[in-house]
Amino acid sequence: MVRGGATIDLVRSYLDHNATTPVDPAVADAVDRAMREEFGNPSSVHVYGQRAKALLDRARHSVATLVGGDPAEVVFTSGGTESDNFALRGAAEALEITGRKHVIASAIEHEAVLQTVKALGRRGWRVTLLPVTQEGIVTPETLAAAIEPDTSLVSIMHANNEIGSVQPIRELCAIAHAHKALFHTDAVQSAGKIPMDARTLGVDLLSISAHKFYGPKGVGALWIKRGTRLASAMTGGRQERNRRAGTENVPAITGLQVAADLAVGKMDKESPRLAALRDRLEAKILDTVDGTARNGPGEGRVPNTTNISFDGIEAESLLIALDLEGVAVSTGSACSSGTLEPSHVLKAMGFPLHRTQNSIRFSLGASNTEEEIDRVAALLPGIVHRLRQVTAGKATQTPATA
Ligand code: PLP
Repeated sequence: MVRGGATIDLVRSYLDHNATTPVDPAVADAVDRAMREEFGNPSSVHVYGQRAKALLDRARHSVATLVGGDPAEVVFTSGGTESDNFALRGAAEALEITGRKHVIASAIEHEAVLQTVKALGRRGWRVTLLPVTQEGIVTPETLAAAIEPDTSLVSIMHANNEIGSVQPIRELCAIAHAHKALFHTDAVQSAGKIPMDARTLGVDLLSISAHKFYGPKGVGALWIKRGTRLASAMTGGRQERNRRAGTENVPAITGLQVAADLAVGKMDKESPRLAALRDRLEAKILDTVDGTARNGPGEGRVPNTTNISFDGIEAESLLIALDLEGVAVSTGSACSSGTLEPSHVLKAMGFPLHRTQNSIRFSLGASNTEEEIDRVAALLPGIVHRLRQVTAGKATQTPATA
């Protein structure tokens, strides 16, 4: 930024970690090394292949440790979207023979799930989207009431990307299983943030994505409980135990491995640190800016996320004003930002239209400090006041012609 002829570096604060995270330097180093030194094809028998295969094996262990399963149950994918598609389309294809073609998902799923169940709808499946409470929770009672004899597949996310609410997956899963339905959870926003154990949760399929926990983009995994019938994501070679054909992206998967190890190692300390920073930011905003309210639960959410509505403000204007001050936030899911579309999550929580369009998501991460949080909180009252004056000015202007 140039002021008075001098160049002033803007202090930048990145508070959009649910959209993506910066790659950890140790991850970048490992990816670089794998790319330069481990070019072998993991399916080759010679030593080059064996070395690349050893990297995949190591990554499979790391992912299994992160999600709480066996390495043999991990299939590498190109990220969260592919994992969700693979889980739902693969399960649906395998289940069609049973004639039970009813799929249930929650109304607050990520588009990767919502659009996929809609696609199943076009293929003759009946689709039910479950409502949520005003705190963004799917209650077990709601699922129990929606399940029917032909329900064979249920997909409910572990943590929501916009408000951070964590769903009662164990209870939901038990209900699905009592009705012989498979259960998938999109754990893209919880993996690496809160401890998880796929076996304790009881799920059959669980999706993760490396770039949400300081790994590279374009790589993730689907955990598939042993014995789960699933059509292959891709047909071709025999990679990934015939589940997903194609030569594995060894460097990216190595990055996923390092990111998973780091997340597992740091979570104990990092989660409470982020929760304290997040609570500090939230309390300061709610205290110092009138007409604000939190969207989503106070308890039972991932530690890094808060979503706040600002009365009389358009979220996009606030996002841009903050960006000009060097603060990066989001209006909710990154995929729908820039479109002024109301948030489908806040809509499902029963909020009126204006509140689905005046809300900002702050999602914290490794680099954020208390000092930074205080600076952001101190900026907000002035920015919000200015934007409200502009809005009030527009509202009182009489049009020149009728
Ligand atoms: N699921 C959830 C809950 C997400 O937040 C995202 C990304 O925003 C995805 C799926 C998609 O993941 P990816 O970007 O790895 O395709």
